[in-house]
Amino acid sequence: MRVAVLGAGVCGLVAARRLALAGHRCDVYERWDGLGGQAATLDVGDGVRLERYYHHLFTSDREIAALYEELGMPGELEALRSSMAFFVAGRQWAFTTPLDLLRFRPLSPLSRLRMGLAVLRLQRSGDDVGPFEQTTARAWITRAMGREAYDTVWGPLLRGKFGDRADDVSMAWLWSKLTLRRRLEGSEARAELLVYPRGSWERLLEALRRDVEARGGRVLLDRPAARLARAGGGFDVRAGAPGSFRRGHDPRAFEPAGEPERYDAVLATVPNDVFAALLDPALAAEVGEGYLGRLAAIEYHAALCLLLELDRRFSPFYWTNVADRRLPFVGLIEQTNLVESARYGGRRYLYVANYLARGHELLELDADALLERYAAGLRAVNPAFEPAWIRARWLFREPAAQPIVTVGYRRRIPPLRTGAAGLLLANTTQIYPEDRGTNYAVREGERAACALTSPSRPVSTS
Ligand SMILES: Cc1cc2nc3c(=O)[nH]c(=O)nc-3n(C[C@H](O)[C@H](O)[C@H](O)COP(=O)(O)OP(=O)(O)OC[C@H]3O[C@@H](n4cnc5c(N)ncnc54)[C@H](O)[C@@H]3O)c2cc1C
Repeated sequence: MRVAVLGAGVCGLVAARRLALAGHRCDVYERWDGLGGQAATLDVGDGVRLERYYHHLFTSDREIAALYEELGMPGELEALRSSMAFFVAGRQWAFTTPLDLLRFRPLSPLSRLRMGLAVLRLQRSGDDVGPFEQTTARAWITRAMGREAYDTVWGPLLRGKFGDRADDVSMAWLWSKLTLRRRLEGSEARAELLVYPRGSWERLLEALRRDVEARGGRVLLDRPAARLARAGGGFDVRAGAPGSFRRGHDPRAFEPAGEPERYDAVLATVPNDVFAALLDPALAAEVGEGYLGRLAAIEYHAALCLLLELDRRFSPFYWTNVADRRLPFVGLIEQTNLVESARYGGRRYLYVANYLARGHELLELDADALLERYAAGLRAVNPAFEPAWIRARWLFREPAAQPIVTVGYRRRIPPLRTGAAGLLLANTTQIYPEDRGTNYAVREGERAACALTSPSRPVSTS
């Protein structure tokens, strides 16, 4: 088969590699001028790569670890000691271990105990998300941990991530966050281990690209799909002109370039709205209103991520959840408190993380204007902070960063197979009940390649 894969994120590259290994000819079309999608990296100096958006893996992320093994790069993954905090009541509170919870004074001793017991109960509740799918996180937390825990910790966190949709978020989403990933180290459980690749995500992305190209495939960067149409038994893919990424995400804004290319099958790994906008009217009719309606019904929040190079350490923690809604961001992730700064030539990096509804005013600001808005919040966490500490800064926006998982989400997940034979869609809205992540993008890419190569085989929903 000649297959077009739309998107050179982890899912698209994994699928293309698997298809190439099975003897198919793959062309990967990518809108951006680099590999990796949400896991893409940038050169922060001297050829050292760092993710545009903070990334780590959990020790429970098996699919991606198996891929590293298969690619002959088992030593690439390194387990590192992490440290986590909550910013609430005017300061950072360590929040990695059970002992930290007992010392967490923003909550009354009774609420601390209730919260600890509820998390423990969740973690021992087994692998079945079923009991948590029909209730909101808010209702479950208030019932199991009490009102104070919701108002002080979980409510502000959920509002930070999901804005005015926070009250609708399913407990299934929080269940996966609290049960599937967190593993504490050693019998004393003093630290959490997180995993980070020695050479950033870039080496994995490059290895995947090499395998696709070694088998006659092409990875076409800065060459987005602009239009998709049925042609004969297959499809025509019309590419957009170089530099189209400057026109945003909607492929209808791209200038078409060159003649369409013909494929037997297409695997799209782009967000739902991009996929729908690619289809010409006849193909949209074939895909059908039911399927397109499912795509439109899932909302995303955008990620807004400011990456700062600092001349010194900002705080003692790798990860700080900001549970104080007066601060205009939701997280501080200090990369060089997880990975030693020596790896970056002594430079230090801090991500200031935000999730926002599309159209939010902060998404319109440039890095300097955003820094002005953030400065007081950064000083609230570290009163000594001065803008003069900043040596370099980068700003990244990802419109389809976080699908909003509301109650009953399972029933709304769009299937891998669209209504049009030979046209598949695999993206982050299909990751469930786990929260999206590169581990699951690997799983999704493998699943999609398998569905394309054995079209009659039923495909599991997640
Ligand atoms: C702020 C943030 C933090 C994260 N932190 C972590 C973490 O710590 N650990 C972790 O494992 N995961 C993390 N993730 C999630 C992880 O990065 C994603 O789940 C994963 O990379 C998704 O891969 P994907 O290939 O499914 O989608 P994407 O990476 O979104 O890939 C889709 C690709 O399609 C391309 N595209 C769009 N339109 C077109 C078009 N018209 N034609 C061609 N190509 C097009 C895009 O440019 C993109 O490259 C984070 C994500 C964000 C935003």
